[in-house]
Amino acid sequence: MSPLLQIAGLTAHYGDFQALFGVDLTLGQGETIAIIGANGAGKTTLMRAVTGVARVTAGAVTLAGDNITRLSAPDILVCGIAMVPEGRKLFASLTVEENLLIGAHARQGNGFWTLERVQSLFPILKERRHSPGTALSGGQQQMVAIGRALMSNPQVLLCDELSLGLAPVVIKEIYAAFPQIKSSGTSIIVVEQDIGQALRVADHVHCMMEGRITLSGRPDTLSRDAIHDAYFGVS
Ligand code: ATP
Repeated sequence: MSPLLQIAGLTAHYGDFQALFGVDLTLGQGETIAIIGANGAGKTTLMRAVTGVARVTAGAVTLAGDNITRLSAPDILVCGIAMVPEGRKLFASLTVEENLLIGAHARQGNGFWTLERVQSLFPILKERRHSPGTALSGGQQQMVAIGRALMSNPQVLLCDELSLGLAPVVIKEIYAAFPQIKSSGTSIIVVEQDIGQALRVADHVHCMMEGRITLSGRPDTLSRDAIHDAYFGVS
């Protein structure tokens, strides 16, 4: 069976600076993959290239057989790829519930993720539904950002550095929702600097360094040494 999302030879530039060098990656239906790597490895650029934000200069992104490489970011969202951006980027003037409902604008037809289901995934979002989104704690804001992305009923959910700046107990609480997201059939890509978390949540892990994938495999097949070398380079 062909993969849901196929990234082939993806190259991206910021001006003259090349940030991605022919990245190949596949994501199967219902699969979760993690992309790990140090600061500046190109993880966010890869997510931005897939979602139509970064400038793709070669290669292709295919979703369910359709080439979406040159579509605009709003069109890619409508096609079924939703992003939880690094830093959450909630709308400060909107309540928690309004932030969630914004996500539903890109929704196509009926799907599993309704407001009720998002609120049952993260019950605090119902309790605090009338609060300004930005009045919540960092972890709760991250739940709003995940819920907002799910409200578009995506085929693919991209999560960029969910754990950044959050306490370990809060990170655990957020990732505890992932089995439920996964069992809804949503395919997931998480970008993580937290290697332990990436290994726990993913079916497949890919390590990036300097704009290239340097190691790929199932978490149980990757040794600590191999991950260390792929993450930091072999000196
Ligand atoms: P981090 O964990 O710090 O977000 P990352 O792995 O996501 O790191 P990217 O943010 O994708 O890495 O950055 C990849 C490379 O592209 C880095 O060298 C970075 O300096 C460069 N870069 C990122 N954004 C821009 C930009 N807007 N303009 C120019 N260069 C950029």
